[in-house]
Amino acid sequence: MKPEDTLPAGVDAAMRYLLSVFSGAGLATPALDARLLTLAAAQISHEAMIRDPGFELSPAQLDLLREFARRRLAHEPVSRILGIREFRGHDFEITPHVLDPRADSETLIDAVLEYVPMDVSCSILDLGTGSGCLLTSLLRLMPKARGVGVDISPDALVCARGNAVRHEVAQRAYFVCADWYGALGEPFDLVIANPPYISHADMAGLAPDVADYDPALALNGGADGLAAYRAILKDITGILKAGGWLFMEIGAEQETGLKPMMSEAGLARIHSFRDLAGHIRVLGGKLPKN
Ligand code: GLN
Repeated sequence: MKPEDTLPAGVDAAMRYLLSVFSGAGLATPALDARLLTLAAAQISHEAMIRDPGFELSPAQLDLLREFARRRLAHEPVSRILGIREFRGHDFEITPHVLDPRADSETLIDAVLEYVPMDVSCSILDLGTGSGCLLTSLLRLMPKARGVGVDISPDALVCARGNAVRHEVAQRAYFVCADWYGALGEPFDLVIANPPYISHADMAGLAPDVADYDPALALNGGADGLAAYRAILKDITGILKAGGWLFMEIGAEQETGLKPMMSEAGLARIHSFRDLAGHIRVLGGKLPKN
């Protein structure tokens, strides 16, 4: 987007203009990006735009939209530009200190719901909570549950707490700054984690909209990508109650390496769960009651 480009003032026309610029630049989802950015700049809903396609953006809103477009063309994700990402149908605030929640991670929520009843009182530990999208989504779905979100980044915890407040689960959500679960005492009924799992070799090949915007701390899984899983599994019997479930998101081709690590750590009934693209995305295991 060049500074001399003039955007049409009508909301529908502005959106179509951006669509052509974004398509020309080869962005993967030009229509969605154009729509989300135009609606955010105009501060109207999608329905309002359909009702009134001629709605005019003010000069300040057009300047803002031009700035959004410039950032998008520099590969900044729409969620980063707007500071909001939808996860399981709800908007989560994201800051530069947290991983941008991915739709694939919704697989973990579905896996939990398949094995854990929603209406029981239950304690949840979310390791590496980031934006808190996993913990907050589960607390919304499980009204009698309470949970602890752990992160090594205090800035991430500010974001996570904000999202718990936004979704009215803050009274049942506690946030702790720690390196995994070293500082926690009592074991939990359910432990979940979407830990950093990118190997050093793969870190070098990340696309710019990931490498430049997601914090390295949230991605970097050590030399072989499995460092975080080792830390989580190390004392899992001390942090998960007998009879409780552990669910972890995993990266491509990590299943074969991780399943034996989970059994060695004492877990049984190890299951794999696929994401919508058909990739194995989550592993779950239960600690036997002995
Ligand atoms: N739990 C957060 C998420 O799933 C953050 C995960 C991370 O930073 N690796 O989005």
